Amino acid sequence: MTDSAPRSDPASSSEPSEPAPSPGPVTGRGEGLGVFDKALLDRCISCGFCLPACPTYALTRQEPSSPRGRITLMRALESGDLTPDDPTLAEESSFCLGCRACEPVCPAGVEYGQLLEQWRDHQWQGRGRPLIARLLMAAVSRPWLLRLQGLVRRHARERRPASGERKRERPVSLMLGCAERGLYPSVSRAVRELRPEVAVPAGQGCCGALHAHNGDSAAGAGMARALGERLPGTVVTTSGGCAAHLAHHLGRDRVRELSEYLEATGHRPSGRVTVGGRRARVALQDSCHLRNGLGVTRPPRELVAAVAEYVELPGAGDCCGAAGTYAMLRPEDSRAVLAPKLEALRKLDVDYVVAVNPGCLRQLRQGLRRTRSRTKAVHLAELLAMAARSEPGAGPGTEPGPGTDAGPAAG
Ligand code: SF4
Ligand code: SF4
Repeated sequence: MTDSAPRSDPASSSEPSEPAPSPGPVTGRGEGLGVFDKALLDRCISCGFCLPACPTYALTRQEPSSPRGRITLMRALESGDLTPDDPTLAEESSFCLGCRACEPVCPAGVEYGQLLEQWRDHQWQGRGRPLIARLLMAAVSRPWLLRLQGLVRRHARERRPASGERKRERPVSLMLGCAERGLYPSVSRAVRELRPEVAVPAGQGCCGALHAHNGDSAAGAGMARALGERLPGTVVTTSGGCAAHLAHHLGRDRVRELSEYLEATGHRPSGRVTVGGRRARVALQDSCHLRNGLGVTRPPRELVAAVAEYVELPGAGDCCGAAGTYAMLRPEDSRAVLAPKLEALRKLDVDYVVAVNPGCLRQLRQGLRRTRSRTKAVHLAELLAMAARSEPGAGPGTEPGPGTDAGPAAG
C-alpha cells in the first residue's frame, strides 16, 4: 500500500457531484466472520450525510472512497463476500485518513474510528501492514529509544521539589509523546514554562495511538493502559491524537489536552504576541481527533484570542493530511489533502497558524516552507509561552524555533 498510486483528482474535486447511490448493506452469511463489532457495523443506515465531510471523497468523488462506501466494503469483508486481498478493500483501508470527520455529522452515531481500527486489525495483519508503519511501531515500542531522543533534544525534565514544597492534592502529569520528544521538545518545555506545577514523570513510553491506527489495536490499548499506570493523576497531553486515544482507554475524566487543562484550571494567558509592533494575526488548525473524537474546539481558540488577534481559518476543522503516519505512507495524497488549506492560509495571510498536534505542526511547517509562505506554524504551547515572555520582567522574548521536520510525527 505504500506503493499505491496517489488517488487525488483535483479536477474532479472542483466539480461537486451527487453521491453515488449506496449499494446498501451486504447480506452476510450467518453471523459473519467476527472481524467487526456487529452492533457498530449495523448502525450505519446508508444515508450518505457523511459524504460531504470526507476529504478522500472530496478528492475522488468515488463512492468506495467515502465513509458510506467503506462501511459497505467492511460489511462485504464481514460477510465473506470480499476477502482482504480484494484490491478495493486493500486500497480503501489505506486511503482513509482516519480523520473521523464522518462521525460528528452522522445522524446514526456511527463510530467510524472504531470500525476503521477493527478493519485495519484484520486487513493489516503481518505483511499486510505497510513497512514504514511496522518500522515506526517497532521504534516507539522501545522506551529507551524514546528517552534517548528526548534527552538529546532536551525535552522538559522533572524538577526536584523544593524542600518544604506543599504536596499537590491531585497530581498532574505531562505526557511527552513520541513525536514531540524527538521533533518538537520546545513544546514540552513551553508547557513547563506556562505551568511549572505539571510533573514530567520519567520512564514514559508511547501511548499506543500509532499502533491502534495501524492495525494493532490490542497493542495500542495495552500501551495506553501501561502509560496510564506510569503517569499519576490527570494526564495532560499536547497532542490531540494522543488525547483521543488515551481518553478512550483511560477514561475521559483522566485525560486533558493542553487547552482543556488550561481552561479547566482557570489559566489566564499573560502577555501578547506582536509582529512589527502590532498584535499578531493568528489562525488555528484543529486536530481531527481532538475536534471529531473529543469535541474540543473552543478552548484553543480562546487561548489564542487572549494573546493575539484571532483569525478563523476557513476549513480549520478539515484534515491537514498529516493523519499520523499517513503523510509518510501516502505522501502525494497527503499533499493533495493539504493543498486547499495552504491556499486558505495564503489568502488569510496571517502571521502564525497554531497547531494542537505534532503531526499537524509538522505537516503545516513543511507545506508552508514548500510554498515559501511568510506564515509560521507553531504549537499552542509555544505561542502562549512566547506571549508570556513578552511580559515585563519575564526575560528576553524569543520567537518559537523552526523545529525539525525529520522523522515520524505520529500521535
Ligand atoms: S452519515 Fe452515518 S449512517 Fe449515514 S451513511 Fe454515513 S456513516 Fe452511515
Ligand atoms: S475517517 Fe476521514 S477519510 Fe476516513 S471515511 Fe471518515 S471522513 Fe473519510
